[in-house]
Amino acid sequence: MRAQAIYTVLKRAEELRSELISLTSNLIKFRTVSPPSNTLECAEFISSYLEKSGLEAKIYSKEEEKANVYVRVTGEPGRKIIWLGHLDVVPEGRREEWAYDPYGGAVVGDRIYGRGASDMKGSCAAAIIAAKILSEMGAESKATVDFWFTCDEEAGSTNGTKWLLKAGLLHGDACLVGDFLSRDPIKSPYIDVGCRGYLRLRLKVTGRVAHASMSFYGDNAIDKLIAAIRVVKDAEDYSLKVPEGIKEAVESSIEYFLSQGGLSEKQKNAIRRAHYYPTVSLTMINGGVKINVVPDYAEASFDIRILPGSSPEDLLKHIKGMIDESGISGVNVDVIDSESGYCESWNSEFAMSLRRAIRVVTGVEPRPKIILATSDAAPVKKVLEIPCLAFGAGIEGLAHAPNEYVTIDGLLVATKVYSILPLIYR
Ligand SMILES: [Zn+2]
Repeated sequence: MRAQAIYTVLKRAEELRSELISLTSNLIKFRTVSPPSNTLECAEFISSYLEKSGLEAKIYSKEEEKANVYVRVTGEPGRKIIWLGHLDVVPEGRREEWAYDPYGGAVVGDRIYGRGASDMKGSCAAAIIAAKILSEMGAESKATVDFWFTCDEEAGSTNGTKWLLKAGLLHGDACLVGDFLSRDPIKSPYIDVGCRGYLRLRLKVTGRVAHASMSFYGDNAIDKLIAAIRVVKDAEDYSLKVPEGIKEAVESSIEYFLSQGGLSEKQKNAIRRAHYYPTVSLTMINGGVKINVVPDYAEASFDIRILPGSSPEDLLKHIKGMIDESGISGVNVDVIDSESGYCESWNSEFAMSLRRAIRVVTGVEPRPKIILATSDAAPVKKVLEIPCLAFGAGIEGLAHAPNEYVTIDGLLVATKVYSILPLIYR
């Protein structure tokens, strides 16, 4: 029975290939750039597209133009999967670097070009087609899936996923995130099983103003800031404890990153280190008012990332301790934002189901990886505490870059996986 359902889904996805191509191309044509993240027209387009397939989509927004669109495909009573993706894109950057119109959705050979093709309108189109395929199946052959297409993920998700969570609109037993990048979802498929956490800090250093010609009367805040920056940078040597349960994913992630070509030895070492130590990026620096004035104020901002399982609070305590020990006076450490990462078990029932779906479609056993950045899976994980995994058609290195594209074969794989998962996990 299940084998029959899987066969039906695979066959139907092939039949809908040209519809998948035109749908992806059409989604790219909406300029849903964040900010301002106006996704309303795109959401209305998706809603009417789904209605033609007999599905009733709904639009939810905190601010009218920042629209989130949702459709439920009902299955048998039991488990419900959330499929989560975003419709907004980052700006196209320098137009002259693009070979095709970034909002044209050009289909060239096996590729569809445009801003958002990989990140992540392609995978949204795959999910829309999957919703259509699943709606054609009997309710008893599948789990219920809530498909969510959100706004402003590229701008912090305050009107998108985070608001939907706050409003209690997002709920389910497991979440499949379509926001996903890999080098080849067909020949060497991966699943994102987690993401790193982060700690964003601002050092605020105060001193005493003086005439630059008599600097000995002052207390130079920039000099002190430079010394304090060195102390924070030393947190890159703070060894993180890697929990036993995530070691396989960590090693597999390193392997994934190292398998790309063109890396220098220095970069390879940095990639290995990024999985066992924090990465500390000094991202902004500010201070001084005039060339002949000893400054009494300076500040610097850091974006620090840490592995799942390590606590941002512990690292903060360590950094504050190091600053105190350094004896540099007038230094304040402000926490701008912090979040723990997470990592799913590779052998959970949800992971096993997704692994099987990918194996059925590609013939290859997928591997786990942990994303170095964060995605909307993090707030979902935090609020709903359900398993969150990511898989999709996005191609690594193309997101946010000129000449972004997605491959048609990759889209087809995503469509099939999204359609098969609810047949297995139910
Ligand atoms: Zn994205």
